[in-house]
Amino acid sequence: MSGTLQAIRGMNDILPPETPRWQWLEERLCELASAYGYQEIRLPIVEQTALFERSIGTATDIVEKEMYTFTDRNGDSLTLRPEGTAGCVRAALQHGLLHNQSQRLWYRGPMFRHERPQKGRYRQFHQFGVEVFGLAGPDIDAELILMSARLWRTLELEEVVRLELNTLGSPEARAAYRDVLVEYFQRHYEQLDEDSRRRLSRNPLRILDSKNPAMAGLIEGAPSFSDYLDEASREHFEGLRRLLDAAGVEYKVNPRLVRGLDYYGKTVFEWITDRLGAQGTVCAGGRYDGLVEQFGGRPTPAVGYAIGLERLIGLLEDGQHACPASPQVYLIAVGDAAQAQALVLAERLRDALPGLRLLLHCGGGSFKSQFRRADRSGAELALILGEEEVAERCAGIKHLRREAGQERIGWDALPGRLRELLALD
Ligand code: ATP
Ligand code: MG
Repeated sequence: MSGTLQAIRGMNDILPPETPRWQWLEERLCELASAYGYQEIRLPIVEQTALFERSIGTATDIVEKEMYTFTDRNGDSLTLRPEGTAGCVRAALQHGLLHNQSQRLWYRGPMFRHERPQKGRYRQFHQFGVEVFGLAGPDIDAELILMSARLWRTLELEEVVRLELNTLGSPEARAAYRDVLVEYFQRHYEQLDEDSRRRLSRNPLRILDSKNPAMAGLIEGAPSFSDYLDEASREHFEGLRRLLDAAGVEYKVNPRLVRGLDYYGKTVFEWITDRLGAQGTVCAGGRYDGLVEQFGGRPTPAVGYAIGLERLIGLLEDGQHACPASPQVYLIAVGDAAQAQALVLAERLRDALPGLRLLLHCGGGSFKSQFRRADRSGAELALILGEEEVAERCAGIKHLRREAGQERIGWDALPGRLRELLALD
């Protein structure tokens, strides 16, 4: 359709048949966060480009090739946020949220990455994320994992996702490991694919994360990080494993799990599903104890995770999460006087019955055509207002989903009768 305006590729409209499922999920996420005492933080969608370069790292896929970066009218380089952690740390520092206190925060909203669009991978997508500041022990890592596990139970997805864990150790341990890894991959340079060759000098740990099956054997034979892991990180990881074992959480330790962002250290984890093809990670997170200090704050331990909501919605589509979207009552009005009265009556009913889903017919038409609309709306009841009803200050009630006689009822008694018929409380 040439000439017609289209949405940007990879940026999706979410339309009415889908929005109830999104609303339902978002409500569950709010409930989850508040059940654990987390507070919402709302952050700008645009930040200075340097914020992401300095946190996510210049040698990562995100910063190298996925960011939407532009120069604004002042000549400043700005970027549509590709993730939420960097902005959250910036805000926490800017507003002094980290002074002698811990914080448990959550956010949700759109993120932007210029990736190749495919199922489960978009250019505008949505995340629900949590970030915790000021708590260093494995107990908070375990809480985050238990919190996400609870969400899978709420969504009836506990059979569909599995947990993988790893530790990335201290910066020093990673640096030592990085050296032996570079040496190993250099020795097998001819077996590296193009991506991995690029990563070799810039971000060699990421080679372990390659999804290319041709690389699997080589990665399998790579030196193991556990030989280079520092003692403090080992203890932290063992502590976390003990807590998860005690809480009955199943997991697999995956020594090749590295995550694509530079700021992670110690614990990293992912919840993975096999139901979404290659885009199998629905939730990913870990520790980033160095980031606050890197941004000029006092050393502050931090840990968080983010859930990709499109992927979660993709999993929910298979299940039964119907949400009531259709109106309960459809108000039909025929004739000028009735149409004017219908607006007033509809307001009165909404006052008297908060939560009632009432759809008012607008645009006129015969009884017959209005009834057809009422039926199509999915409403339980049609309320009917014609000249006669207006003169007698009453309305007709007709059941649309079952056989039952039509009744007439005065306006004053109408809220009570609707409450009965629709079992409202
Ligand atoms: P992937 O390996 O799938 O590219 P990632 O490591 O880049 O993921 P994170 O930055 O950790 O992902 O983001 C956390 C979660 O956000 C992911 O696990 C995924 O569920 C979701 N996510 C990331 N990028 C996209 C995208 N382009 N479209 C949809 N969801 C995404
Ligand atoms: Mg990615």
